Amino acid sequence: MSTREVPTPPPSASQIDRAEGVLLTQACGDALGVPWELGHRPADGGCGSRPGEAHMQGGGLGPYSPGEWSDDTQMAVIIARVAATGADLTSRPALDAVADGFIDWYESAASDIGAQTRAVLGAVAHHRGEPDVSARMRRAACDYHKTSGGRSAGNGALMRNGVIGLTRLRDPRATALAARAVAALTHADPLAADSCVIQAEMIRANVAGPAWQGLPLNGANPLAALALVPEERRAYWHDLFDGGVYDPMNWDWPGLPATDGFTVDALGKAYLSFISANRAAASMPATFHENRAEAGSTWLRLILTRAVHSSDDSDTVAAIAGAVAGSYLGACAVPSEWADKVHGLPTGEDGEPLHAADLRELGRATALAGLT
Ligand SMILES: [Mg+2]
Repeated sequence: MSTREVPTPPPSASQIDRAEGVLLTQACGDALGVPWELGHRPADGGCGSRPGEAHMQGGGLGPYSPGEWSDDTQMAVIIARVAATGADLTSRPALDAVADGFIDWYESAASDIGAQTRAVLGAVAHHRGEPDVSARMRRAACDYHKTSGGRSAGNGALMRNGVIGLTRLRDPRATALAARAVAALTHADPLAADSCVIQAEMIRANVAGPAWQGLPLNGANPLAALALVPEERRAYWHDLFDGGVYDPMNWDWPGLPATDGFTVDALGKAYLSFISANRAAASMPATFHENRAEAGSTWLRLILTRAVHSSDDSDTVAAIAGAVAGSYLGACAVPSEWADKVHGLPTGEDGEPLHAADLRELGRATALAGLT
């Protein structure tokens, strides 16, 4: 009998579309959320828009132009540029490249930046380009964790994490190790890394799995990812999503935490945006489900609108939900008025901001590079 390995089939067109959807849909959620971040209201307040209306209006902390994504997607692009080479994101060279990219961004393109990420990157910026800059960054994150009293699980690692779900589509464990390694550059709190592992596994499983067949929308299943979380914290996460604050039954509970700077709340609210969208879709007329492409776009609008509406860190929760939604529904579900408008930093080789096609290319290249 031959001992040769059975060749694995190349990814399908649908899987490529879902890989291309991850960064693109994250960016759309990000750009939809920026005007509402931390109590902001759109600069063009006279337009009469409400958070429930999915328009890219700009404003917020940047302030951003309409359609422009913020720090969440800026940092995700930096990770993606390393991931798209096929590099092992747990290796020192790859982590040094990501760390150098973060520092470059901090010193030039960062239009806004969270307090924790600013503290860590600022502490090691003068080591840019040195061997082991990533180890220095991890130590700075540990120092921040200690001085914060052991509570440093901000959502700043999770907001940039989605593309890591594409790095090793056939290997859940390698994907989880990569998510944990990149999170640890700036966030030493194990809950921050856990949240990244859970989101990355949802995305990996969505892209590796079969195409969406219509009903029901099962694109976000955190419980299925918990085998990759260390045993000592598995019950914490399980109980959170099953009977706890972020149980599906609480999709419209007014008692949800008001803020989502804590990575657990950011992931929880992103998850509940899927449950909310399912509830809304259930009341649609039967004809809604007949055109799958149109249903996918409508579902995506429902998910991202809910993510923006339910959070105070609106761009970040919508970016987290968007990356997962894109991995399930694909780039094809992104409405053209969003895809045409979305853009942002860092710049490309031509010195111009990136656009939808660039994000799709980075997602596809990351997925394919990890399969070879
Ligand atoms: Mg942001």
